[in-house]
Amino acid sequence: MVGSAIVRKLQAEGYSNIIIRTSSELDLRNQAAVADFFADEQPEYVFLAAAKVGGILANNIYRAEFLYDNLMIESNIIHSSYKSGVKKLLFLGSSCIYPKLAPQPLKEEYLLSGYLEPTNEPYAIAKITGIKLCEAYRSQYGCNFISAMPTNLYGPNDNYDLQGSHVLPALIRKFHEAKLNGQSSVEVWGTGAPRREFLHADDLADACFFLMQHYNDDLFVNVGTGEDVTIRELAELVKETVGYEGDLYWNTEKPDGTPRKLMDVSRLHTLGWKHKTALRQGLEMTYQDFLANEVLYVE
Ligand code: GDP
Repeated sequence: MVGSAIVRKLQAEGYSNIIIRTSSELDLRNQAAVADFFADEQPEYVFLAAAKVGGILANNIYRAEFLYDNLMIESNIIHSSYKSGVKKLLFLGSSCIYPKLAPQPLKEEYLLSGYLEPTNEPYAIAKITGIKLCEAYRSQYGCNFISAMPTNLYGPNDNYDLQGSHVLPALIRKFHEAKLNGQSSVEVWGTGAPRREFLHADDLADACFFLMQHYNDDLFVNVGTGEDVTIRELAELVKETVGYEGDLYWNTEKPDGTPRKLMDVSRLHTLGWKHKTALRQGLEMTYQDFLANEVLYVE
């Protein structure tokens, strides 16, 4: 989702010399394959968007994979970027790097000030390592490697697998299928009380392009809207967007996860970037994209 959004942004800006590889073409966990790729292609600017990602359930079940795959991807790309003389690299982390009970909104300086949310601790540890790799390669070798921490994302090419996905795509699919099948209710996980912030992938791509052009500091930068909603509010909004008229059934056997993770985006706003897509509008766009690509998204 993020990689394709960045490619769309670069193409819209007129770039034609974009080097991309799908995961089936290049396994980023393979150190030798990544080293060969950088040696052959000699990219100048690197957007490190690739990651093993998923929702609350996937993070909690595939704990080893979330840690190992992400550590390998980051280590291989960051080290090869240093070795091959990349001019600038942007590493993408996640808002789950912050302590579970950190004050809200989350300021960049709260990193490593407390315990992490247990359901996604392996993923968070890997993403914190990515930040630290960028900082260390900058301080030891003088590399211009920067990091951005996006909030929860959604948009074209999202993962709609109900076990592995995040809440927003899961709810689009669930309400859509319930509408088609005339179901009287839809299962939603947890209590509905947790709050989440959502950023459209095209806005993130725009922020990545902005930071690649204008930001050269070792401090990482939060990327979000600075506004959040409860999962209950999100569910009502998705229900309305899809046009489903049944009820919600809250399954409290499923975890809530972290109570809140609202980004403080003042650093990014001060730099001069702000998101453009409001949640309601972004949901509408995303539902249209889902309808157009349902056969690809849902197996
Ligand atoms: P998180 O932001 O890392 O916690 O990941 P998610 O996007 O998977 O979950 C966010 C919140 O939405 C959690 O409180 C979930 O319990 C809740 N949620 C409600 N329904 C669903 C669903 O169908 N799928 C997912 N993934 N989360 C859901």
